[in-house]
Amino acid sequence: MKKRFCLIYVLALTTVYMPGCRKKTPKEPEVKPEVKEAIPMSANEEAFGQTPDGRQVVLYTLINSNGLKARITNYGAILVSLEVPDRTGRLADVTLGFDSLDGYLKGPPYHPYFGATVGRYANRIGKAQFTLDGVVYKLATNDGENHLHGGIKGFDKVVWKAEDVRAESQKALLKMSYISEDGEEGYPGNMACTVTYTLTKDNELKISYEAETDKATILNLTNHSYFNLAGQGTGDILGHELTLNADKYTPVDEGLIPTGEIKIVTDSPMDFTSSMSIGSRIKQVEGGYDHNYVLNSGGGVLALCAEVYEPTSGRVMTIHTTEPGVQLYTGNFLDGTLKGKSGRVYKQHYAFCLETQHFPDSPNKPNFPTVVLQPGQKYRSETVYKFSTR
Ligand code: BGC
Repeated sequence: MKKRFCLIYVLALTTVYMPGCRKKTPKEPEVKPEVKEAIPMSANEEAFGQTPDGRQVVLYTLINSNGLKARITNYGAILVSLEVPDRTGRLADVTLGFDSLDGYLKGPPYHPYFGATVGRYANRIGKAQFTLDGVVYKLATNDGENHLHGGIKGFDKVVWKAEDVRAESQKALLKMSYISEDGEEGYPGNMACTVTYTLTKDNELKISYEAETDKATILNLTNHSYFNLAGQGTGDILGHELTLNADKYTPVDEGLIPTGEIKIVTDSPMDFTSSMSIGSRIKQVEGGYDHNYVLNSGGGVLALCAEVYEPTSGRVMTIHTTEPGVQLYTGNFLDGTLKGKSGRVYKQHYAFCLETQHFPDSPNKPNFPTVVLQPGQKYRSETVYKFSTR
């Protein structure tokens, strides 16, 4: 099955951005139509394999005019690869993952959510339960007594439906949808979700999420890409220089559940308010970084989250998000046992994740921003990863 989408037109770009939040939808900014020279772009699809229950899985390729290339599968709405130029223009795949569906089908711990769309609730919910409108909901336990990344069969392990695949002069996009049924992994409400990957001519990968429910529920969606800006599987990320737009973080207990405290990072190894190599103080953090940072933006508007610079390749990744938090995870549990793309072995700290999100265990922490979605409300969230060189 090979189908080619190729559209070469001069288009008036009229993308209207709506910042992600469950609060009141802010006034839509006026976007002036921009007419640019025609640039050929393409979005291809090819067979990626079959799930054990016989469902066909597709691999989509989005390419922009600079050669930036993203491959995404509708199994788990996973970002399989992302090829980005270095300062000499040479492309390298900067995300960890597998060459074929088989690796992804093995699930965690073999496949620790590489590139996956994580839901309904990204990160941990303590004791796998929460109370909403006086009802106690018990969720699937898959991390000791806790609930992690949506449970045993989260959004990363379902087949999404491709709704829209487009390659235009200004952008290439793939929109996928999934309906999560009432009671799935213990969550209330039927929930309809979409995730849209867009590659722009400005070397941005945008990931936008939307969701609606028919019953009050909770929700926290993210993408779980493991990045190595020197190229996947080439070494550790300890020399990457990181800046986080966050003065505070949420300390955790031994089960990695936030204690509820919101702590200032100043004078601690948690401080990335100015550029610091990830490895400079990692030994002072037990187990490595696996913490949620409280973004200074407060969430609700698309704002700066992080910048990462890799000195040997010159690649820079700048992240903007509408989410109020981001999990810095430094691949602490990668142990060199799995075989990744091109036969590469992934050892401890061979990648970092910056998972934009609401804070872990928010349903049980009244002082954290709410993750409740009511019927009639629309959940919107967007994260933009922009690539450049220095
Ligand atoms: C969590 C880690 C976990 C990893 C893979 C991250 O989001 O914070 O604790 O090991 O995902 O599951």
